[in-house]
Formats: sequence, C-alpha cells, structure tokens
Amino acid sequence: MRPYPARQTFHCDLAVLPSGRVAGGVTVEVDGGSIIGITEGAPARSHAQRLPGLVVPGLANAHSHAFHRALRGRTQAPTGGRGSFWTWRELMYSVAERLTPDSYLTLARAVYAEMALAGITTVGEFHYLHHDTDGRAYDDPNTMGHALVQAARDAGLRIALLDTCYLAGGFDQPLEGVQRRFDDGSAQRWAERATDLATAYDDAADVVVGAAIHSVRAVPVDHLAPVADWAAARAAPLHMHLSEQRAENDACRERHGVTPTRLLHDHGALGPRSSAVHATHLVADDIARLADTATSVCLCPTTERDLADGIGPSIELRNAGVDLTLGSDSHAVIDLFEEARGVELDSRLATQARGHFAGAALLATATAGHARLGFPAAGRLEVGAPADLVAVRLDSVRTSGALPETALDTVVFAATAADVTDVVAGGRHVVEAGRHVLGDVGLLLRNAIHALV
Ligand SMILES: [Zn+2]
Repeated sequence: MRPYPARQTFHCDLAVLPSGRVAGGVTVEVDGGSIIGITEGAPARSHAQRLPGLVVPGLANAHSHAFHRALRGRTQAPTGGRGSFWTWRELMYSVAERLTPDSYLTLARAVYAEMALAGITTVGEFHYLHHDTDGRAYDDPNTMGHALVQAARDAGLRIALLDTCYLAGGFDQPLEGVQRRFDDGSAQRWAERATDLATAYDDAADVVVGAAIHSVRAVPVDHLAPVADWAAARAAPLHMHLSEQRAENDACRERHGVTPTRLLHDHGALGPRSSAVHATHLVADDIARLADTATSVCLCPTTERDLADGIGPSIELRNAGVDLTLGSDSHAVIDLFEEARGVELDSRLATQARGHFAGAALLATATAGHARLGFPAAGRLEVGAPADLVAVRLDSVRTSGALPETALDTVVFAATAADVTDVVAGGRHVVEAGRHVLGDVGLLLRNAIHALV
C-alpha cells in the first residue's frame, strides 16, 4: 500500500452525518488516518480532494468466508436439480481442499479488493481453514491466518480475523475429509493457537483477532465455554453461526433438549461482544435471550436467499433492541447496499407490509459491524473516527435524478456496489474514480479463481 499524506482535506458534495441527516458542502479534515474536523455548508477549498455524489461512512462486512467467492455462479444447480444448502456445502468443500497459503493469499487479496470497491473498509473474516490438506498443522500453525491479514492489508481494509473453533462434523460426528483442515482437536488447543495469532497483532491498529464458534453442530458442548472464556479474557469479539437451518435446530433439540440459542446462552457464549450470524429460525425465547445479553445479529440476506435459508425475524429482533449488522457471507454478491435493502424488502415480502426499516436505519446496519468487529470508533463521519469515506455517485443510470433530501434513500434502495467511485479507508485513498490501487480487480479475481476451480 502506497504511503499517504498525513494531513488531507476532502470536500463532499453531500455527506451522511451520524444523525442520519444528509448535509451539503461537507469538508472533512484528516490527520494521520483519523478525522480531526468536519464543517458543513462551506465552499470547497482549493487544496481539497473532491468526493462526488453522496459520501457515506465506510461500510463493515461483518461476516465473510473469503474463499467462498470462488463458488459464485457455480452452485445454482449443482446436482442438475434443485440443490440445497447441503449440496452447496459439498461444492464449497471441493474448493476448500485445494487452497494453499499462497493461493488463499492471492484469492483473498482479490476478494478484499472487491470489497473495497464496494465501499467496505472493515471485514470480519470467519476463518476456519487452519491446517494443511492432511489436517496437519503448518510449520507456523497460523500460516493461513497470517495470509488473510496480509490480504486485507494489501487491499486496504481493516480485518477482524475471527479465528474459528471447528471440532466436529455434526452432533456426535467426527470431522471427515477436508473438514480435517478445520480441526484443532480441542478447544484448549484451539485457544493456544488463537493466542499465538492474537499476540502477533497485539500492537496492530488495523487487525483484531477475535474468536468464533463455528456452530453448535461443530463445537461439542463441553468446548463451548472455553472458547467463550478465551474471548472474554481478551475482551475480543465472539461470533457464531446460529440457527441458519431448521435442521440444526432439530438436531440440537434432539441432542440437548434446547435450542441452539439457549445452548450458547447456557455456556456463556452470548454477550455484548457476541454476534450471532443468520439467526434465521428463532423462537420468542431466543430473541429475548439475544436482547437481554446485548448480543448482536449479523444478517446475510443475499446468502440466505441464495441458499434458501428463509427470512429471519429482523423486525422482531429490532423491536427487542438487538443490534443488527450485515455480512456478505458466501459472497453470492458483494454489495452491502443490496444486503441493507434486503432486510427491508424481504420483511415486506414476509409481512405484506412496507416501511419497517427507514433508509437511515438500513445504512446504520451496514456500518454497525465495525463496532462488533472490535473497531468501535469506525463507521461514523465525526471527529475522532477513522477517516473512512465512501463516495457513491448520484449520476449513474441507477441513481440519477436523486434529490439531496432523498439521496440517502436513493443510495440504499437503488445504488449498487458499482456506484461507489471513491473509498478512503483509514485515510488511505484505496479506490479513486472507481479504480482500486491494486489495479484490475476483475483480472485478479479471474486469475485467482481459475487456478482453483
Ligand atoms: Zn458463514
């Protein structure tokens, strides 16, 4: 990443302030990667870099599996028939078994550059591809994790590496085949490796090492608390897949007599640093437990659609006071505007009523992930925040005709990632006029993916 000047001035034609209000003529002063001044209603200064369209804060992709990007377009009818989550998973494993540290670095770098082009400035990488193809640890057991951090840095993103404990192939089922790459053997050995990884980035402002419980299917019940304890001791984020599929709920009830949410609660895995991913199939008691513990929920609408998971109870969660964040998860697309409006539009289909989430609230879901990934100051255009500025053009065929007073709704309900022209991430101008500093990201993706599939 090329160096950047310490002091910079950006002039935004229109910008979304923390209140959700759109202000005109906003000047943002930046020093050392942080915002040190914001004034509105001022003419552009001659030395200012102009950011056109509507400037929104950097977006947070709170749930990513970078290698799933290689599956895009290849899983729509995998068996010649309808396919399911489980047939999709088999194809996903076929990519997982080919990845090496070098090829994963190359792929993840391109995927994170695609994210930067979409206005994402922090990624939460839910990482479980830890070990070599035969299940043995690399000489440095965190080789894969280091590759992902390097990829994010090359692409200009902050990363929360959510180091995932993954010990079983299902309730009372061993890991098999490629799944052995995920296996640390026990939560204790997972914790030892995760500690080494976290220690390596203790002083890094752009990296958070958090914990993840893959799911109640994949972490036997006796190993849940040790992972939660590790995250608590380090005040680190703790993420987990939760109730994405009804089959997981049924199996959990059969094995433990309770829902996955209740099981996680009983073993100390819910709390204000915890994020439950999907949370699609919940009962009222689950929602109350998530709310009472201040656990957030990361919705992934485009993946949930793609995998036919169902429509989650986003209205009920919001009404209960649960913070909502967004993730592109399987990367069926990487477009947080599509994820954000999906929360509202899917709710409309489910309820046959409109107006559950306003545009400003939906944009807030696209920025709330920074805090839940361990970067609490990011995601707002205010003094003291990291200088994360995303310019969305208002003159494309999708957005043209926007008015200042409704520009935010135009962006949330009609813009796509392709309308992002400029991205400043921590003061670095990583996307300028639609071009990423790494060059042709489409070509980088093609080369990385064709080497694997
Ligand atoms: Zn996931």
